[in-house]
Amino acid sequence: MTAPLAPQYDPSEIESQLYAWWRERDLFSPEGAARARGGPPGEPYVIQMPPPNVTAELHTGHGLNNTVQDVLIRFERMRGRRALWVPGTDHAGIATQNVVERLLAKEGLTRFDLGREAFVERVWAHVGETGARILQQLQAIGCSADWSRTYFTLDEDLSRAVREVFVRLHEKGLIYRGHYIINWCPRCLTALSNEEAEKEEVDGRLWHIRYPVADGDGHITVATTRPETMLGDTGVAVHPDDERYRELVGRQLRLPLTDRRIPVVADEAVDPTFGSGAVKVTPAHDPTDFEIGRRQGLPSVDVMTPEARMSLATPERFQGLDRFEARRRVVRELEERGLLEKVENHRHAVGHCYRCGTVIEPRLSEQWFVRMEPLARPALERYRDGTLQFIPERRGEDYARWLEGIRDWCISRQLWWGHRIPVWYCEDEGCGRVSVSRTDLTACPGCGGAVRQDEDVLDTWFSSWLVPFTSLGWPEPTDDLATYYPGHTLVSAPEILFFWVARMIMSGLYVMGEVPYTRMYLHGTVRDTQHRKMSKSLGNGIDPLEVVRQYGADALRYSLVTGMSVGTDLILDPDDFETSFGPGRNFANKLWNAGRFILSNLDGPPRPLAGKVANVVRREELTLADRWIVARCDATVREATESYERFRLNEAAAAVYRFIWSDLADWYIEQIKPRLYGDAPGGDVARAVAAQTFDVALRLLHPVMPFVTETLWRRFPGRPADASISVAPWPLPDPRAEDADALREFGLVQEVVSAIRAIRAEYGVQPGQVVRAVVSRPDSGDGALDRERLTVTRLAKLSDLSFGEPRERVGGHAVLSDGTAVFVPLGDAIDVERECQRLSGEMKRLTQLVESQDRKLGNDQFVSRAPAEVVQREREKAATWREQREVLSRKLELLGCGT
Ligand SMILES: [Zn+2]
Ligand SMILES: [Zn+2]
Repeated sequence: MTAPLAPQYDPSEIESQLYAWWRERDLFSPEGAARARGGPPGEPYVIQMPPPNVTAELHTGHGLNNTVQDVLIRFERMRGRRALWVPGTDHAGIATQNVVERLLAKEGLTRFDLGREAFVERVWAHVGETGARILQQLQAIGCSADWSRTYFTLDEDLSRAVREVFVRLHEKGLIYRGHYIINWCPRCLTALSNEEAEKEEVDGRLWHIRYPVADGDGHITVATTRPETMLGDTGVAVHPDDERYRELVGRQLRLPLTDRRIPVVADEAVDPTFGSGAVKVTPAHDPTDFEIGRRQGLPSVDVMTPEARMSLATPERFQGLDRFEARRRVVRELEERGLLEKVENHRHAVGHCYRCGTVIEPRLSEQWFVRMEPLARPALERYRDGTLQFIPERRGEDYARWLEGIRDWCISRQLWWGHRIPVWYCEDEGCGRVSVSRTDLTACPGCGGAVRQDEDVLDTWFSSWLVPFTSLGWPEPTDDLATYYPGHTLVSAPEILFFWVARMIMSGLYVMGEVPYTRMYLHGTVRDTQHRKMSKSLGNGIDPLEVVRQYGADALRYSLVTGMSVGTDLILDPDDFETSFGPGRNFANKLWNAGRFILSNLDGPPRPLAGKVANVVRREELTLADRWIVARCDATVREATESYERFRLNEAAAAVYRFIWSDLADWYIEQIKPRLYGDAPGGDVARAVAAQTFDVALRLLHPVMPFVTETLWRRFPGRPADASISVAPWPLPDPRAEDADALREFGLVQEVVSAIRAIRAEYGVQPGQVVRAVVSRPDSGDGALDRERLTVTRLAKLSDLSFGEPRERVGGHAVLSDGTAVFVPLGDAIDVERECQRLSGEMKRLTQLVESQDRKLGNDQFVSRAPAEVVQREREKAATWREQREVLSRKLELLGCGT
């Protein structure tokens, strides 16, 4: 504690130690934080972490999502709330199973070689090995979740809760088993929900095929994007009012390439204005056709195996062909037989497996479903009545639209890794009882005969949609559940709005009777400079841990927070870390240097600025600069607090950045140096003001940059050894600090100094050279400038500051926003002759540029032949050079060149 601060800030030395110290002190649990803070425990505030996949590696998406949550939880923790951030990992059925299957494939094995039990053991071993590395990675970026409450969705407790919900929903008729068309992944060999079948636009084709009339002449033309499915057609449907086909309804067609005959049926679902007005009906391979088939009593012919190869139900020559191979062959044969009327290019949406990218095959099968409409209705009501607040607001409409069009949720998966469906079937054919049970069954409750459990497992999201209460101990009536349900804020990527966010609201309402949280912040996506989403396959990702190694966690967090506002994406350049993360590192360094300066000037605790205590700094002791920085600090407290509250984290960070970098470091610290070094009075007041406004700034910044702020904050003299900024009280605005006069008057001082500095730079005045300045004010009020004469002369490096009209002609000139004119005589400060020469040379160069540009733009050939935007660019260049010439000519005049 007493060793001086290192001259350079080195995050790598500090971060992991500091993180370990926070954990040792148990500051991330609401109880531990309350103990460390002392006083009452505060109102609960809960955020549920979107549980990462147990095998995941941290990417920038996690980085962004969890940094935002950490900022909010740290903010509320400092505000004295019982802040709980619940972490966990998701067993991620399909994703994890795929990972282990890939590992097995390297050994030349499949899961079937191992068998179910051994395979599941293997997955557990793998998961245990990787040991939820993702959680350690979240710790490396500073996340202050309550790790003592970490759950895993396959934990015994959570599994029991999952089963409880399944049984309850089944008892209420909200879970059912049915034979329907579902989305099938032929690679993962499982059913998927509608949300898991990601729609992607592809350039496909539309084949128009003729089906000849069986006993007679003519044909009906149907169109399809999947010709191979025609082998499973069991009818052709037309609209009942379609005159063109009136004669044909009820008659038979010959299904090409097969020896089957299929009927023409009339069905209201057919759109007579689309294509030929006739559609092929393939009940086993299309959801709409399935419905038509049911209504019309058409059979279902399943022409594909689970792997999407052509089944035994197809003519022999097709059997075993992959669906896309079969497609080519079907098309070729149709063409040969003159049954292919035409082929059109056709762009349409095709479902892809969200885990492996394989094209989804709609497939008829027996699955378990959740009846969603009764769950969706109250979830929609809570949005309509304003209980649920979405940030940004438009996400609320996405939510409402999805709920309004909700379809039943297919929850069974033909996987081995996951919660096995708690359903047992009686082996006795005479009994055949299906039992849904909270406990494992070994015998049929009906006949006592043997039972077998359903082979399938539940969709991963069937456990994660319950975590707001299952992670707190439900169905047991735990203290945690009573205290921390319902929670408050959810921070999520928009991609999982339907998968997770909306479903949690439904389950929370159904099971707990209350929504699990009321404010949902859906932040943007991390993209590269070409606006592509960062992904492993594109190789355009950024490893957040590499950023931490090179720049520190604070720098990473700062960039993630400041790069994105509500409703926008975050753009980062994977090839240029310096541009992306340099600003955060530079800010940490600036903070470090300001901290070193302030702390090295304190030889004990500074005098308090407020409170009923001895030795308090009285208002009358403050100088204009003191009053100004105190007022600026107060304004920053207001701005930052309000921005954090409204999820405008970038604005909060920007406000604190401005205050620390510009107000405090660049102005105030520079201004008070004479007082600190003893040649001006009031050194103790300056020290007190600098230290305490810096303390406030550190606290305001702590949620975004926890490490550097804690390190500096703990170094303040008089701080107890175990004090942590993470439970320090959040700064409150102080009406006594508001000071419009000080803001205006010191603001004028700053403007004058800045104007003189700008003139010095413009005319190349050497840094060590003093100049004079003459200020004339539109009204007589130069009192503040006069009183702050010392500040202005010192900061602008003046030998003299006078008021009134300048008597000289040669010099630099500026007019401020309020009409104040600043004049810097330059005759004795620079070599006017040389400056005139330099400027004249520059003038000559610009004139040549302008002239040649005018010739170019006067050339009709160039103007008519070059692309419009090139011509436009050249015109803009000419205009810029003209402007520069004008500025130069004013300068030459002011310096009296050539006279
Ligand atoms: Zn798949
Ligand atoms: Zn039985």
